[in-house]
Amino acid sequence: MKIYLKTLGCEKNTVDSENALALLNGIDVEETQDIKKADILMVNTCGFIHDAKQQSIEAIFDLIREKRVGQKLIVTGCLSQRYAKELAKEMPEVDHLLGVNDYAKLPEIVQGMRKERIAAQKAAKEYEELPRLYAGGVSAAIKIAEGCNNVCTYCAIPYIRGLYRSRKPEAILAEAKQLAEQGVKELVVIAQDVTGYGRDFGRSDMLPKLLKDLCAIDGIRWIRLMYCYEDEITPELIRVMKDEPKICKYIDIPIQHSSDIILKAMNRKSTEHSIRSTIRELRKQIPDIVIRTTLITGFPGETKENFNALYAFVEDMKFDRLGVFPYSKEEGTAAAKMPNQVRSDVKQRRADRIMALQQKISLDNNQKYIGKTLEVLVEEVFEDGSYSGRTAYDAPEIDDGVLFTGLAGLKPGMFVPVTITDAFDYDLSGVCYESAK
Ligand code: SF4
Repeated sequence: MKIYLKTLGCEKNTVDSENALALLNGIDVEETQDIKKADILMVNTCGFIHDAKQQSIEAIFDLIREKRVGQKLIVTGCLSQRYAKELAKEMPEVDHLLGVNDYAKLPEIVQGMRKERIAAQKAAKEYEELPRLYAGGVSAAIKIAEGCNNVCTYCAIPYIRGLYRSRKPEAILAEAKQLAEQGVKELVVIAQDVTGYGRDFGRSDMLPKLLKDLCAIDGIRWIRLMYCYEDEITPELIRVMKDEPKICKYIDIPIQHSSDIILKAMNRKSTEHSIRSTIRELRKQIPDIVIRTTLITGFPGETKENFNALYAFVEDMKFDRLGVFPYSKEEGTAAAKMPNQVRSDVKQRRADRIMALQQKISLDNNQKYIGKTLEVLVEEVFEDGSYSGRTAYDAPEIDDGVLFTGLAGLKPGMFVPVTITDAFDYDLSGVCYESAK
């Protein structure tokens, strides 16, 4: 195990930290300067005068923001000795508060963490083996991982679902083959963080490889990527998306916001600059790519200026698909306790303004398809002989659809060419003249 230790205050604290490290070395805990590699984050605080207290509190908050699922946060020193009760109440993210005479307890605490980790790993293995009884349909979600190691401050999922655990490729491929045999044509690849696939195995190249293997499965025609994280989209992933015809030229990247201040408060790794450059690269490499995103309005501390910047960003980026939610307080999350919570009516009004803007962008985007012939997956046949379906540019349930007429006798699961004759805010309509494939 590794510990990241920040020491504040006087020489006495420095000596206490050295004692703590010696005790932990004795049970194979090494010091690291890299927060991401640490299993334990520890801050040795000072509570001498007002400024020192303030500095200690800021240092604890900094570590709370950096803390990932699976990491533990320990606060020691004068501040935790004097204000243990208050800190425990105000900072539930702190796992252990130790006073100045409690350093000897550290080895026992760390051994307890080891046991917890072993139990969590055991539980993770059991999950992967669960069988699946597929309910049917032409499109099926396939889960490639469970849990999440990010700690977005508004989200309770990591606390509910635990550490990120990638499924083994063999298990995913076997499930995908079985789905194909049951008539599934479209696989929707999902996880809390799809682009994190394989990182818990210490590898960053597993997602592109998995996608190529999924493409080789007979019967599967479309493979769609949901919940991708901007900062984890690699050139190799873009290349595979570009080269593999079965991979839909579609990607869902929930960015949540564009303001660096709000992104930092959300504990997201992206910045406006990184989001812009990833989207620019995707559009450059795959010119017809459709990008979907999700936003949160009214996150604690979101000012009028932050919101206006988000509005201008959406206007500029012209996402093809977009969902927006007013921020909702989730119990036990850091954001729920943040000051400057935004009033509900303001959050909702901001979400409505973004949606009204997106409606215009979506209509403009859809109009470019008029006169074009697109491949459509038939999903439903109506009594009057008309059909509804989807192009590869739309995800099931959440995106646009195509309503069309034309050839008789089409069935769900067929792929047909549909010439688009009209475009609406969120739907297309057209006619199918040619026979199904
Ligand atoms: S929002 Fe997504 S990435 Fe962030 S913590 Fe929740 S599940 Fe993980």
